[in-house]
Amino acid sequence: MKKIRVGILGATGMVGQQFVSLLQDHPWFEITALAASEKSAGKPYVEAVQWVQSEPLPEAVADLPVREARPGLPCEVVFSGLDASAAESIERAFADAGYAVISNARNYRMHPKVPLLVPEVNPNHIELIRRQQEGHPKRGFIVTNPNCSTTGLVLGVLPLWRRFGIRRMLVTTLQAVSGAGFPGLPAMQMLGNVLPHIRGEAEKIQTEPRKLFGSLEGDRVRAAEIQIGAQCNRVPVLNGHLISVSLELRQQATLDAVRETLRQFVSPLAEWNLPSAPPQPVRFVEDPFAPQPARDLMADGGMTVTVGQLAPCPVLDYRLVILVHNTIRGAAGGAILNAEWLHVNGYL
Ligand code: NAP
Repeated sequence: MKKIRVGILGATGMVGQQFVSLLQDHPWFEITALAASEKSAGKPYVEAVQWVQSEPLPEAVADLPVREARPGLPCEVVFSGLDASAAESIERAFADAGYAVISNARNYRMHPKVPLLVPEVNPNHIELIRRQQEGHPKRGFIVTNPNCSTTGLVLGVLPLWRRFGIRRMLVTTLQAVSGAGFPGLPAMQMLGNVLPHIRGEAEKIQTEPRKLFGSLEGDRVRAAEIQIGAQCNRVPVLNGHLISVSLELRQQATLDAVRETLRQFVSPLAEWNLPSAPPQPVRFVEDPFAPQPARDLMADGGMTVTVGQLAPCPVLDYRLVILVHNTIRGAAGGAILNAEWLHVNGYL
C-alpha cells in the first residue's frame, strides 16, 4: 500500500515530538514535512528540536528541513501540534488550501462545523466535515481532538455513559508538566510544589464533553445534557494526568453492575483493525494503589486509559480515578487515531 504523506505543524514542540515518535513506523502514514515557527524554520530537524522523548530521534527525520508553517508542504494531511496563539490562522490557511488538518489545538474544537473527535465516543461526528467542504472545491477540512484531560475523562466514563447515562460529574485533575508544552513551567514553580490552577483548563473540561457526548442531528451536534464541575492542578509528574471523578448516573446501578460494565467494555472500533486503536480502550483495575502514572501509563502504548479506585460516593453515586497519557492518547496518539478513522471512512 502506498503510504499517505503527512506533515507535522509544530514539529519541535512536546506534541510535535510525540507525533514524530509515533509516526516513525506507521503502516499507513509517512512523515514528509515538518514545520514550526520562524525561529526553527530553515534548520535540519535535529538542530531545531530539543528532543525530550525517551527513545532516540528517528534517523529518517533527523535531516528533514523544518519549514515555515504555511501551505505548500509536500503532503496531503497535516497533524497540528501548534501553539494555540498560532493555530487559528495557520490551520485555516491549510484547510483552505485543500489539506486535511488534524489538530490538537483548542481554537476550532467548539466550532459548529468542526468535529471534536474521539472515535470510540462519537465516530459519526465526522459527517460534519461535509459542512466544511460545501462550496470549497479544494475539499480541505479541520478535525480536532479534545483537551488531554477531557479525552481521558470521556473515555474513562464512556462505558457508564453508554449503559446508564450520566447526569452530573465533579472532576479534579492532577496534571503532568508535559501538558504545559516545552520548555514548560519553571523548575522553581514545580519542584516540590502543586499549582492549583491551569488557565482555561477547567472550562474545557466543563464544555468539551457536552459536544463529544452530543448527538448528531442533521448537520449539527446537539450538546449532551450533562453538568460538569472541574478543578485542575499541575503536579510535578513528567507524563500522565490523573482525573478524579464523582458522578451521578441517570439510571440506578449497583456497584457490581458498574464494575462489570467497566471491566467488560471492548472497543466499538474493534472490527476496523485501526493500527492505533487499542482493543480495550478502558482498562479497569482493582489494585488499591492503581492507577499510577509511574506504573500504568503505557498500557497499549499509551492509547488505553486506566480506571481504578471505583467506590460508592456518599454525595453523588460513584467515584473513580482515570489515568490518561496526555501526549499520547490525549494528544498525538489521539490525533493519529482520528486520522486512521478518517482514512477508513474515505476522508483522506
Ligand atoms: P509546545 O511544546 O509549546 O510546542 C508548540 C509548537 O508550536 C512548537 O513546535 C513551536 O515551534 C510551534 N509554534 C509556536 N508559534 C508558532 C508560529 N507562530 N508559527 C509556527 N509554529 C509555531 O506545545 P505543545 O505542548 O506541544 O502543545 C501543542 C498544541 O497541542 C497546543 O495547542 C496545546 O494546547 C495542545 N495540546 C497539548 C497537549 C500536551 O499534553 N502537551 C495535550 C493536548 C493538546 P518553535 O519550536 O519553532 O517555537
